[in-house]
Amino acid sequence: MIPYGKQDINQDDIDAVVEVLRSDMLTQGAVVPQFEAAVAEYCGVDHGIAVNSGTSALHIACLALGLGPGDYGWTSPITFVASANCIRYCGAKVDFVDVEPSTGNMSTEALEEKLIIAEREGRLPKVLIPVHLAGQPCNMEGIGALARRYGVRVVEDASHALGGSDGNRPVGGNPRTAATIFSFHPVKLITTGEGGMVMTQDRALAEKMRELRSHGITRDAKSMTHAPDGPWYYQQLTLGFNYRLTDIQAALGLSQLQRLDDYIARRNKLADRYDELLAGLLLETPVRRPDSRSAFHLYIIGVHEDPDVASRRMVFERLRAAGIGVNVHYIPVHTQPYYQTLGFRDGEYPGAEAFYRRIISLPLYPALTEAAQDRVAAVLEIALQP
Ligand SMILES: *Cc1c(COP(=O)(O)O)cnc(C)c1O
Repeated sequence: MIPYGKQDINQDDIDAVVEVLRSDMLTQGAVVPQFEAAVAEYCGVDHGIAVNSGTSALHIACLALGLGPGDYGWTSPITFVASANCIRYCGAKVDFVDVEPSTGNMSTEALEEKLIIAEREGRLPKVLIPVHLAGQPCNMEGIGALARRYGVRVVEDASHALGGSDGNRPVGGNPRTAATIFSFHPVKLITTGEGGMVMTQDRALAEKMRELRSHGITRDAKSMTHAPDGPWYYQQLTLGFNYRLTDIQAALGLSQLQRLDDYIARRNKLADRYDELLAGLLLETPVRRPDSRSAFHLYIIGVHEDPDVASRRMVFERLRAAGIGVNVHYIPVHTQPYYQTLGFRDGEYPGAEAFYRRIISLPLYPALTEAAQDRVAAVLEIALQP
């Protein structure tokens, strides 16, 4: 089976992990801060807070922004469920902003319409979580301007977009958004096994998130309610979690980060090649926003809903039967039974539902060979026949 995504582990990665295993500190050592500093430098921001998953990163970012019961958090329906679940973890209400049917990214027009209505009804969201689907940055200029106008804080879910850029700014380095999160799950751009990071330019927010990552505990005398009892002293200030990343994982991430630019170049080269191979077929190749560079976490095609083409389901099953590990990203979150118990209904987000009906994610990862890619294109051409 050619998978849709796959990690790339080399001897340097293994050596870096083994070095930590032979050291005194498996966790809470020096490597986590090194990894945080390296990703922060890559993105051009001051603070990176490493955590044990992208989901934890979303959770502490929302909490640190004060999201809680009575508040709304908005995200995209075309995402992994974690982008919405983090809002529920805070006890807040979720709502969705429909996507552009062409890219699957949050629609600026839908956002504006929804904000106008929400302002009138007095239920503006506290936090907005746009998702850079497949690695292609959302229109952050438009989304950011609307968020500022309505006083909404933005957390970018950049789980797919580490290494991509928007204009000439790396994703993760937008000074106008409160925070950006990355995931280091093995299918993502670089991996730590499980892991994630929040990037921010806001020092106070960074301190809050560091506390939340580690039980709500501080060892910083300046943050304590009274002078420390002694050198052993710490205080728990809030109810936090154990969301820490280990030094074993950080060593893997730091080693992987050295190859991130090569990975992104390779993914873009393979994406360009897919565009050429699939050019003549009755399908849509990914629409690319000008002035941005996708990290190409995913290569998502759209199968035409047309009597001259097999159905999306048929194409999917034929590809799988031929040993090509395609996937679908994503099932609209508002159609999930859990979200339907909260009152969401099928048909509420037509852009998302139209996008979902057509899409298939083709294999794309740095070690994918051109021969394997040729095979995917050849099988796809046959699979499209009605
Ligand atoms: C992977 C992913 C997450 C969650 O990341 P984990 O590290 O698996 O917790 C969140 N949002 C999106 C869009 C993702 O793809």
